[in-house]
Amino acid sequence: MGAGPAGLVLAHLLHLEGIDSVVLEGRSREYVESRIRAGVLEQGTVDLLSSIGVGERLRREGLVHEGIELQFEGERHRIDFPSLTGGRRITVYGQQEVLKDLIAARLETGRPLLFEASDVAVGGFESESPRIRFRHEGEAVELQCDFIAGCDGFHGICRDSIPAGVLTVFDREYPFAWLGILAAAPPSNDELIYAYHERGFALHSMRSPTVTRLYLQVRPDEDLDRWPDERIWAELEQRLGLEGWTLHTGEIIEQGVTGMRSFVVEPMQCGRLFLAGGAAHIVPPTGAKGLNLAVADVRVLAEGLTAWFEKRDGAALERYSAEALRRVWRAEHFSWFMTSMLHRLEGGDDFDVKLQLAQLAYVCTSARAGASLAENYVGLEHV
Ligand SMILES: Cc1cc2nc3c(=O)[nH]c(=O)nc-3n(C[C@H](O)[C@H](O)[C@H](O)COP(=O)(O)OP(=O)(O)OC[C@H]3O[C@@H](n4cnc5c(N)ncnc54)[C@H](O)[C@@H]3O)c2cc1C
Repeated sequence: MGAGPAGLVLAHLLHLEGIDSVVLEGRSREYVESRIRAGVLEQGTVDLLSSIGVGERLRREGLVHEGIELQFEGERHRIDFPSLTGGRRITVYGQQEVLKDLIAARLETGRPLLFEASDVAVGGFESESPRIRFRHEGEAVELQCDFIAGCDGFHGICRDSIPAGVLTVFDREYPFAWLGILAAAPPSNDELIYAYHERGFALHSMRSPTVTRLYLQVRPDEDLDRWPDERIWAELEQRLGLEGWTLHTGEIIEQGVTGMRSFVVEPMQCGRLFLAGGAAHIVPPTGAKGLNLAVADVRVLAEGLTAWFEKRDGAALERYSAEALRRVWRAEHFSWFMTSMLHRLEGGDDFDVKLQLAQLAYVCTSARAGASLAENYVGLEHV
């Protein structure tokens, strides 16, 4: 269920093991391929996509980054990834580009990928033959399955189909959001800049040599109508600006407000329904972990399903939830840590500010603290 990063990577991993699947997606192909979301890929995600044969354009067009910059009190400090992590890096490549590559690869396999499926309902997953009912091209369809992978994101239906009392929910909403823009302007810096500023957090990121992605901390209920383009650029200039540095501006192609939330359900399974990616957990985007976690989940799930289909050995599937949750909670902590360190807290006092500045100074001056941030950012190999 779902043609996001989790569903499509899982389907491809299973295909490579000769295992059949049907991918159901509620939206159109055009919608999925143009939805602007994540953009930072961990080294492990890049390696996995390359190893399954969908890394060719990513290697050609992705922007390899060897560090990020943290800005506070009018200065920038660089966190160098390779020297702190034994040579690891990140790659900036838009989620929609990852999806275009995965969709092309899926269609090439000839196995089914059905867009615009509607009225989708899952059931029977506590038995040995779960089923999915849906409508496609005017027809009512029922699929008998061996397993259902609920990869339908945070707003999907799979998690809510699990009977009450099975899942434990861990949830935290933050009292701020990000106003994000995509602008037709070359990046103003080679690397991402995370800026802590008295007016609120700002992030300079990019999607390509000609497209910049920029974010501003705003209130969760912020009204975009109050943000004409001139105000957005002026605010970015205030929060990111430094003497001798120029913020490149350009046409704003897209803008939106994204709420900040941490959310996990345990376990990530009910009978033969397995949850993966955003269906089971979300993180605030400050740590750039969401897409990477979705891919890490399905890598574990694919191993379990492969063992089951090859040897009827269900041990790895039984371990799926616990194994995936270990990485999920590490990423939840890192995302919360980055968010807490970098955002101005509504109602916070000078004591909070001093603590945040002390933490920022620590990660920028201590090689050990810097290495901890860096290894989490590029993605921990063994969690
Ligand atoms: C604005 C924004 C910015 C983000 N930035 C970052 C970032 O910088 N770094 C990062 O790592 N993460 C980021 N994320 C998070 C990242 O995009 C998600 O973690 C990632 O998309 C999760 O992948 P997924 O496959 O689990 O779910 P999704 O990508 O949400 O895919 C789920 C799919 O299921 C489909 N679906 C839903 N319901 C149904 C249904 N009933 N029937 C059929 N199909 C259905 C959906 O249409 C969707 O295509 C961002 C998210 C947003 C919204």
